Amino acid sequence: FLRIFMILVLSCIPGRTNLCSNPSLNTLSSLDSLDLEGYITFHDVHNASKDFGNRYHLPPLAILHPKSVSDISTVMRHIVRSTSNLTVAARGHGHSLQGQALAHQGVVINMESLRSHDIKIYKGKQPYVDVSGGELWINILRETLKYGLSPKSWTDYLHLTVGGTLSNAGISGQAFKHGPQINNVYQLEIVTGKGEVVTCSEKRNSELFQSVLGGLGQFGIITRARISLGPAPLMVKWIRALYSDFSAFSRDQEHLISKENAFDYVEGFVIINRTDILNNWRSSFTPNDSTEANQFKSDGKTLYCLEVVKYFNSKEANSMNQETEKVLSELSYIPSTLFSSEVPYIEFLDRVHIAEIKLRAKGLWEVPHPWLNLLIPKSSISDFATKVFNSIVTSNHNGPILIYPVNQSKWNKHTSLITPNEDIFYLVAFLPSAIPKPSGANDLEYLLRQNQRVLSFCAEANLDVKQYLPLYETQKEWRSHFGNRWETFAKRKYKYDPLAILAPGQRVFQRVS
Ligand code: FAD
Repeated sequence: FLRIFMILVLSCIPGRTNLCSNPSLNTLSSLDSLDLEGYITFHDVHNASKDFGNRYHLPPLAILHPKSVSDISTVMRHIVRSTSNLTVAARGHGHSLQGQALAHQGVVINMESLRSHDIKIYKGKQPYVDVSGGELWINILRETLKYGLSPKSWTDYLHLTVGGTLSNAGISGQAFKHGPQINNVYQLEIVTGKGEVVTCSEKRNSELFQSVLGGLGQFGIITRARISLGPAPLMVKWIRALYSDFSAFSRDQEHLISKENAFDYVEGFVIINRTDILNNWRSSFTPNDSTEANQFKSDGKTLYCLEVVKYFNSKEANSMNQETEKVLSELSYIPSTLFSSEVPYIEFLDRVHIAEIKLRAKGLWEVPHPWLNLLIPKSSISDFATKVFNSIVTSNHNGPILIYPVNQSKWNKHTSLITPNEDIFYLVAFLPSAIPKPSGANDLEYLLRQNQRVLSFCAEANLDVKQYLPLYETQKEWRSHFGNRWETFAKRKYKYDPLAILAPGQRVFQRVS
């Protein structure tokens, strides 16, 4: 009792989490008295109040550090039975952008506490790895590589959790070939919004399985996942080449994703109003022809960079180089701008972490990130590029703009993820940082307005664009996002989380009192 009293007193000190008006003593003490292997804390909530987006600061009431699946189930069942109105957010690595992993005055479950480092690998015809939902992808990679194996589908950044990316999709340059990460999962263990622990797969409890994948955390908490593996290469050949013509760039990207064996990774990015771009690459990439490369001047033009990768092992280097050259000869990039490098597979996959270390050192990692991710059907990409890259977004000094196509046929249509209704669609990701200026101001408002202008253009031009990592404020907007799949989504929510306790930060459903 004394502990709870102290928590309430401390919480009422100005500047600390304001609990005075909200939870009853009863709510706190009943949570505190649960019999758990892990523990619940009511203080040190600062980190769980924010995310990578760094725009929302919403403190939870309590943080559960589970040691077992049963801890999560116990807390969920307790909340379902109580009259507390608490919500619950599973928090992976907190790399959401707009508060999706937050639970204001609710309970945040620190999923990384659950990871017990028991990454279990099964070799055989269809190898797989069993991992905790709170495991980081980088740790899975390190472990599977010891067996010459690797997951097939990735995100560009690996310091994210399995539960966090599987609640969205997990998309990177391998998705044209293997689909997103949610299509490379054999089995899940879930704690539903009712506190039930359920194992599910394509064959067993398949509705829950499909609902949870890409389900924005709405149906249950992923406590374990079985992820499909394939042979891991030792090395990758990493190639970049520039285009000044968008239609030639997108034609080549689409050509490459139609050939399954041409490359193992196909991405691209837009360069707006930058000079000296090739010099920036020279530290890590070698020009195919340095004399020609020296003559190339970007002059601040809008350029499109193709980025492709071929996996290989040392013995295959010669044949890999020949095959790669043949495919490159079919493309229309500016010849003087072909650059390449050969690096270990893990170094390539973990590339964004290297950028993270540099940005952290300059204090530029923990700044607001007003990111916008869009899925754009192939039939609209040219109109989108013409308008957005020429007149709405006038520079990308604040961060990269990624653009690459994927094949819908490689994506399982039965998950909760919403994609445009065409065989090929593009991921376009605006990934700026709002960097503080010496005056104390930053570009956040400007970047948010720019995002809004991009979205307004898509709506006015009827481009049938879908947001990836979507966030809307009203249910009307959510209904429009899901289209004719809204009824199914809402019905499943009622079935697996009838009180709408889970993932309140997604703002899809209101907690039922
Ligand atoms: P969190 O932010 O902690 O959680 C995300 C959502 O999932 C929340 O609603 C949360 O409640 C829920 N959740 C978390 N864990 C679980 C669980 N175990 N069970 C059920 N629900 C859960 N995405 C891509 O697809 N491709 C990329 O290349 C890519 N690159 C990125 C690079 C950076 C630097 C960053 C910051 C993000 C990137 N993302 C990318 C987005 C990223 O995949 C999502 O933001 C993802 O949700 C982050 O994972 P997390 O573990 O931090 O999840």
